[in-house]
Amino acid sequence: MENKVYDCLIIGGGAAGLYCAAKLSRSVFSGKRVAIIEGGNRVGKKLALTGSGRCNLSNSEIDLSKYNTDDSNKLGKSISRYGYLETSDFYENVLGVVLEQKGTLIYPSTLKSSTVVDALRFYLADNKIETILNERVSSVSRNKFYELTTESEKTYVAKNLVIATGGITYPSTGSTGDIINILKDITDDSFYIPFKPALTSLTSDTPGIKALAGIRCRGDVRIVDSKGTVKAKSEGEILFTKEGGISGICVMDVSDSVVKLIDEGESTIKALLNLTGKTAGEIFQMICIRRQMYPHRNCADALSGMLLRNVTDFVMKYMGLKGDKMTLRELDDRKIAELSNLLCAFPVNVTGYGDEDKAQVSSGGFKLSKLDDHMQVKNCQGLYIIGEAVNVNGICGGYNLQWAWTSASLAAEGISQNV
Ligand SMILES: Cc1cc2nc3c(=O)[nH]c(=O)nc-3n(C[C@H](O)[C@H](O)[C@H](O)COP(=O)(O)OP(=O)(O)OC[C@H]3O[C@@H](n4cnc5c(N)ncnc54)[C@H](O)[C@@H]3O)c2cc1C
Repeated sequence: MENKVYDCLIIGGGAAGLYCAAKLSRSVFSGKRVAIIEGGNRVGKKLALTGSGRCNLSNSEIDLSKYNTDDSNKLGKSISRYGYLETSDFYENVLGVVLEQKGTLIYPSTLKSSTVVDALRFYLADNKIETILNERVSSVSRNKFYELTTESEKTYVAKNLVIATGGITYPSTGSTGDIINILKDITDDSFYIPFKPALTSLTSDTPGIKALAGIRCRGDVRIVDSKGTVKAKSEGEILFTKEGGISGICVMDVSDSVVKLIDEGESTIKALLNLTGKTAGEIFQMICIRRQMYPHRNCADALSGMLLRNVTDFVMKYMGLKGDKMTLRELDDRKIAELSNLLCAFPVNVTGYGDEDKAQVSSGGFKLSKLDDHMQVKNCQGLYIIGEAVNVNGICGGYNLQWAWTSASLAAEGISQNV
């Protein structure tokens, strides 16, 4: 058994754990005995994958509407206390990372996530934060202090314990959700909502959809239930997957609603896709103009300047027509109206969603309402939970990493107040 008592142990060397340690080094806690215990062979594995390797680390328009949680009030207070401006300040002026803004998205100017991981690693090394690698914590108990046992049967003792173990997505990076079991002697079922994949792709059995594999369209998606009620909507890029499903940022942003509908037993879920980003009226007019210009061309060729050929073929096939055989002259106003409406709201049957290997973030986790304003478990002095392990999940666009930084900052502030 290790006989030293740490002032603070952080389980998990991901975004939240690394940032919390950095914030502690910057506080009155500086010089105290702090360590990160990480199950993997290096820290920041998932952080390195973010933003397609570019790390979209925050967003200049952080607000409550971009998140799901069980405690909106506390989340609102948290993101206004530690939001994008504070994050930018810490990255630029303490960690030395030059940031760049694209639209509202914030990236390191190198557009490399390794810049962010390295900046955190170097800062922790400079501040003598110990990083214990290849040690997966398997149990936690609470006596006078917190006692941790790892799979290799080592024991660590700490006055303050931060849980920064992530959710269940990309389990190859070390986040498996086993923390719920690990904490079961301290918490009970009322403390958490089971983890589920969020920000994930959707599967479909719509006939012929595989013909669109690899195609990207800029448009929007609306998720509707069997009564035709719109449950979620989002705009942006839609990607057709090789498995015959749909993905892309706007699809991932509404995937959470599909997970919920399936959980509720909804049997008929449709994704209505706008495949052009235009209104049906605009499309109708554009096709009519083309009909005047190129009446002799087959529809797929005649519309190729405004629609991808595969999209024309796919939608016309759905109408029972052959885009490559029929001339535009043969497309009467009624058919043009039908085609325009379908291009604005093509109904894709949704049969399921991508599992945790495909999802970018998890919903569920420890309830925010069970934590105090500093992420400390209520009535459990010294135990903090941060990052994706908490029931807060955002849409794509830097909101999830911002939550990691926000929650880590709040915990570091709370811990340093205990000195
Ligand atoms: C492909 C991909 C792209 C993404 N892109 C973005 C993006 O651009 N912008 C954005 O905002 N968000 C993005 N996200 C989401 C973002 O990465 C996560 O929200 C964030 O990394 C969560 O940080 P975390 O520290 O809470 O958890 P994690 O980063 O998952 O870290 C948890 C750490 O805890 C360790 N651990 C777990 N259990 C134990 C244990 N029992 N003992 C010891 N160690 C343990 C794990 O090994 C892991 O290193 C992306 C996610 C993915 C998968």
